[in-house]
Amino acid sequence: MRVAQRMSVIGTETAFEVSARARALEASGRDIIHLQIGEPDFDTPSNAREAAKRALDEGATHYAPYPGIPALREAIAEDAQARKGFPVTPDRVFVTVGGKGVMLYAILGLIDPGDEVLVPDPGYPIYESLTSFVGATPVPVPIRMEHDFRIDLDELASLVTPRTRMLVINSPANPTGGVLTRADLEAIAELAIRHDLVVLADEIYGRILYDGEEHVSIASLPGMAERTIVLDGFSKTFAMTGWRLGYAIVPPSLIQMYGQLIINTISCAPTFAQIGAVEALRGPQGPIDAMVTEFKARRDLVVDGLNEIPGIRCLRPKGAFYAFPEISGTGLTGAELANRLLNEADVCVLAGTAFGGIGTNHIRISYANSRQNLTKALERIQAFVDALPAETAIAGSAR
Ligand code: PLP
Repeated sequence: MRVAQRMSVIGTETAFEVSARARALEASGRDIIHLQIGEPDFDTPSNAREAAKRALDEGATHYAPYPGIPALREAIAEDAQARKGFPVTPDRVFVTVGGKGVMLYAILGLIDPGDEVLVPDPGYPIYESLTSFVGATPVPVPIRMEHDFRIDLDELASLVTPRTRMLVINSPANPTGGVLTRADLEAIAELAIRHDLVVLADEIYGRILYDGEEHVSIASLPGMAERTIVLDGFSKTFAMTGWRLGYAIVPPSLIQMYGQLIINTISCAPTFAQIGAVEALRGPQGPIDAMVTEFKARRDLVVDGLNEIPGIRCLRPKGAFYAFPEISGTGLTGAELANRLLNEADVCVLAGTAFGGIGTNHIRISYANSRQNLTKALERIQAFVDALPAETAIAGSAR
């Protein structure tokens, strides 16, 4: 079957393919530790599950209003106003199928062929993929370990051209766990205003922060609410990846656009799931705090363990649940190490290049797994690296 030409430029999210490979190995009897998955291993809080079950029994099985049920849009607006620090009215909130929906509509609705979109490298691969899909040009913004996995602002400014239409930022970040500071965001806001850029602010990990880091939404900075689409959702914060619920907070000028795109694609997000999400937001938040506390303990376990392995250097991430160690001292590239860890050590991680060219000498480890499994994985990685021929490691450290 002939597919449309644009299918030749769409990308992918490697995590799904690598997971399939790992599952195939498991089916052949291998004991794989999964550190490739970008989702909390916790259950959705029980109050949200109960609310959705009740909703189903009470007949919430029909279409919802296309922007989302009023109770959820109100709960999101209140929550956003409190946590993100800028006034949000419910009419600016759109409930989508996953945070991915927000991304799709932002790019589909705002980006023309020939436009340029600044995307983080390393970054969530779908920003780049969708940009190419609509015939525009993704321009990678390097996010380097030497710069604390934050954007180098001079470098960012140098990448803006007359064709630049949108800047995507993601803080806390996948895959690095990096967090942009308030000063970073102020400088980015100033740049966006100066060049009349739209900002897609992916804040999906905004509540998974450690060591007292503050979550600053760029939309709360002066002049930014009018040019920022905030992407957030329930997948990560409430361990609700399978519910497929995300939301956009859009400037008043984009209310019509988001509505039209939702009507043309999904009609609405599932009604009973939205009722469960109201409970997730309005109910007790203790399970979320407990999850973040546990993630922090796992972060420290993983970072300390990785830094003890010769040839591996790992920063302590400030948010999300990923570590992004630099591994060139092993003598392997990130892709080689990820492949060999899966095939020879039964540990599944992702190559840094799954997130962009800057990730060549990195792997991404998701620590959304039990401490017991993380400890076992670290032992396996250490044993694998220890067994590498000495000359490979020397060649690597000279790279
Ligand atoms: N944004 C980032 C940075 C992510 O890491 C992910 C999922 O991994 C998403 C958005 C998509 O989230 P959802 O599952 O809600 O579509």
